[in-house]
Parts: sequence; structure tokens; C-alpha cells
Amino acid sequence: MVPMQEHQSQVAVIGAGVIGCAVAWELAKVGFDSTVIDRNGDVGHGSTSASCGIVRRFYSTPTMTGMAQEGAEVWADWRAHLGLDEAAQLAHFERTGMLFIPPAMDEGVERVVKHMRALGVEVEVLTRKDIAERFTLLDTASHSPTRCPNDPDFFDDTGRSIVGGVFEPDAGYVVSPMLATQNLRQVGERDGVRFVLGRRVVAIHSGTGGGRFRVELDDATSLGADIIVNASGPHSGAVNRLAGVTLPLETRALRREVCAVRNPSHSDATAAPLPIVGDLDSGIYFRPESHGRDLIVGSLDPDCDVLEWVDPDECDDSCSVDGFERQVLRLMKRCPAVGLGERRGLAGMYDVTLLDWNPVLDRTDKPGYYVAIGTSGSSFKTAPVIGAVMAQLIESCEQGRDHDRDPLHITLPRTGFELDVAFFSRLRGAHVTTGTVLG
Ligand SMILES: Cc1cc2nc3c(=O)[nH]c(=O)nc-3n(C[C@H](O)[C@H](O)[C@H](O)COP(=O)(O)OP(=O)(O)OC[C@H]3O[C@@H](n4cnc5c(N)ncnc54)[C@H](O)[C@@H]3O)c2cc1C
Repeated sequence: MVPMQEHQSQVAVIGAGVIGCAVAWELAKVGFDSTVIDRNGDVGHGSTSASCGIVRRFYSTPTMTGMAQEGAEVWADWRAHLGLDEAAQLAHFERTGMLFIPPAMDEGVERVVKHMRALGVEVEVLTRKDIAERFTLLDTASHSPTRCPNDPDFFDDTGRSIVGGVFEPDAGYVVSPMLATQNLRQVGERDGVRFVLGRRVVAIHSGTGGGRFRVELDDATSLGADIIVNASGPHSGAVNRLAGVTLPLETRALRREVCAVRNPSHSDATAAPLPIVGDLDSGIYFRPESHGRDLIVGSLDPDCDVLEWVDPDECDDSCSVDGFERQVLRLMKRCPAVGLGERRGLAGMYDVTLLDWNPVLDRTDKPGYYVAIGTSGSSFKTAPVIGAVMAQLIESCEQGRDHDRDPLHITLPRTGFELDVAFFSRLRGAHVTTGTVLG
């Protein structure tokens, strides 16, 4: 590791979401002088604020499972990771377990279970009967293919049952993503990161003196930088355009609703508590919220749903009548004790890598301009790992490494997972994934 005082480079991190704050802090730890800029008045107020914070390891590729496993270890040890004492109010990791209900227990599922086990993740393969006995509020009928409520067959009994499921006993969720981001700001400031908040980046000029870049803000001020990190979430494409950077793969903002209903297990002492459920058979995921009083439910992008690609500056952040009914009615089929109730919820945006729904963590063709984008609705859990990966990548490229030809490899410190950072390259071919938020 290069000693702190050896770096003189000024870094501008655009975006104070969980990714930008994690990157800036990790850069500070290896001696870069970082400033995080955000148009919002506080950190974590972008798409991070809408995040469900779920931490699971069930991914199509061993690399994403390895990243998520490392992330889970960090969340479980958050106070020590930050080096903060008992007085600090910190985000915490609720370990409820997570049940996946795939439409079929096929070879694809077996492969995922195999690579999870190979990486040391505890996994249980459950039968339909196991699920019925263990999670008494869940109905075990199969609903696949997922339908919309306006489909005349929506309420029909398929006459089939789910075959089984996969249970990750130590999966859970972080309460809350925004607090976790504020924690990152606190340690960032402690270690020298500056925050320029309430200011939007409106232009990025190259080669104008005072560093490789001049970053212009909407209050007519500007700052010089040798290095820029685009961590602007759903605005990633817009910020790349400001810098005149075109990537060979596209990222786009996808609007996503998360709805809330009363949690039936909260008022029923005889019912087994509901874990997080990734119900691919019904096209939804849900988890307990607000100390278990509520359930929140989001979409797993079933084929029948129309994806809502949006202009990130025009996204309506309320929960729609249609979206609420669609998701809650699907939930009611899986969990009949749930009632429709009053409409509650919110909408946020994913920054989706259209190629394969995996992040892009890379340098670009413009020297000094890096991206940590395309987090595709599932990178809260890995944000601390992404921060560390980006810091090592930037340090290594700035010292002359040609990461495109000679990709960086990192041994992740907590799990020992051998990460080939080329997995996240902008130049990669598509990884084989579900093409959804599940990755
Ligand atoms: C509804 C929803 C549910 C999710 N659930 C999960 C989950 O259960 N588990 C999980 O692991 N992940 C989940 N995610 C994904 C995860 O939350 C995101 O991957 C992560 O929060 C993205 O963080 P970010 O810092 O990249 O983006 P953001 O939090 O959006 O931060 C980007 C910041 O850039 C700023 N910005 C943009 N343009 C400019 C500009 N021109 N000038 C200045 N600032 C600018 C924005 O104001 C914003 O604050 C979910 C996401 C959503 C939306």
C-alpha cells in the first residue's frame, strides 16, 4: 500500500450515494484527496434512500456471490469496519434469512447452490413440505408464469404447487441504507474527505489547467481535479455525457416501486415470522420492515411487466395505484393473510447496465475518468466492497497499470475470494445472468 502522503491527486467523486461515499472513504484511506459532490442537500438522498438494503448471496455468477459474501461480512461487522465507538448511531444488519422460490428447482438453481456452497455460504435446499411447515403464512401454490391482475387468468388456480426453495439462513437487510451512507460520510470526513452538497455538476472540462479536469457546478463555482469518479447512480449516462465519455455498454434509469402493507405475522403470535422472500414464481420479493410491523414488496421484473425506463430528472417518486395493486395482489396469493390496505410505498430508480445487470467498475478511455455505475438495483450490499475495489483500481491505474490489457486481481480481505476485476469491465461481453435485479 502506498503511504498516505505520497498521493497529491485531487479526486472529484460525483454522487454522494452509498457508492460515492464508499469510494471516497476508501480513496482517503490510501491517501487520495477526495471531494464528493452531490446535488442533494445530504448524502444518501438519491436512489440509495429507496433501497430495500437486502443482503443475499443468491446470484447467477460466482463473482457476484463472492462480492456479496464479502459485503455480508462487512455489514455484520459494520462498527469495526468503520472504526467507530459505541456512541455512534450506526446502520445495523437484521438477519432474518432469505427464502428463494424459483419456478423450477432446475439445473440453474443447482448450479447457484453449488457455487454458493463452494464459497462457504450456508444454504438449505427445502422441499415444498419443508416450506409449508416452516413458514406457515406462505401458501405453496405455484403461480408461474407470473401474470398481471388485469389478465383474466390472474386469479385462476394453476393446480400446481411450487417444488421447493433455497434458504439462506444468514441473509438479511440493513436498516437503513441512508443511515449507512451517513456513517460513511462521518468516517470519510474523519479521514479527510470533503463534501460539497446541494450543488449539481453542470459541466466537466478537460485539460484546462489546475488538474486534468475542471468540474463546473450550478452555483457558478468550479473545482479542479486530476481524477473524476462517476458515482452518480441513475444519472450515470448524463454525467458521462457531460465529460464527453462514451462507453461501449449503456446504462439507463429504471423506475421501481416498493409498496408497504401490514405484516400479518406481527399481530399473530402463533405464526412463524416471515423471512425475506425472493419469490420468482410470483414475480415479487418482500421483506419485513419497521420492526416487523409492515412488509415491503418489490418487483422481480417478470416478463409480463413493462419496464419503466425514465429520464432520471422526471421520475415520479410516489407509488402508483396500478403498481401497488399489482405487487400486493401477487403478494396476497403467496401470503393470503395479507390485506390490501391503504396505498403506501415509494418509487426509486435503478441504474441498469442493459448488457447483463452487473455493475461497471472501471477506468475509461479518458485518462483519469473512472466509473462506478450500472449498479442495477442490487449493489447496496456490495457498496463497501465496490469502494475498496475502486480505490485499488484507481491507485493501480494512476501508477501506470493498463487494466484493460492486464486486469487487476484482488484477494478480498474477509473471505479470501479471488476477484478478477475485469468481470466489471466496460469492455466485457455479457455475463450469463437472469437479466433482472437478481443478477
Ligand atoms: C427501490 C430500490 C430497491 C433496492 N433494493 C436493494 C436491495 O435490497 N439490496 C441491494 O443490494 N441493493 C438494492 N438496491 C440498489 C442499491 O440501492 C443501489 O445499487 C445503490 O444504492 C446505488 O447507489 P449509488 O450511490 O450508485 O446511487 P445514488 O444513491 O442514486 O447516488 C447517486 C447520487 O448522484 C447524485 N448526482 C447525480 N447527478 C449529479 C450531478 N450532475 N451533480 C451532482 N450530483 C449528482 C444524485 O443526487 C445521487 O445522490 C435498490 C435500489 C432501489 C432503487
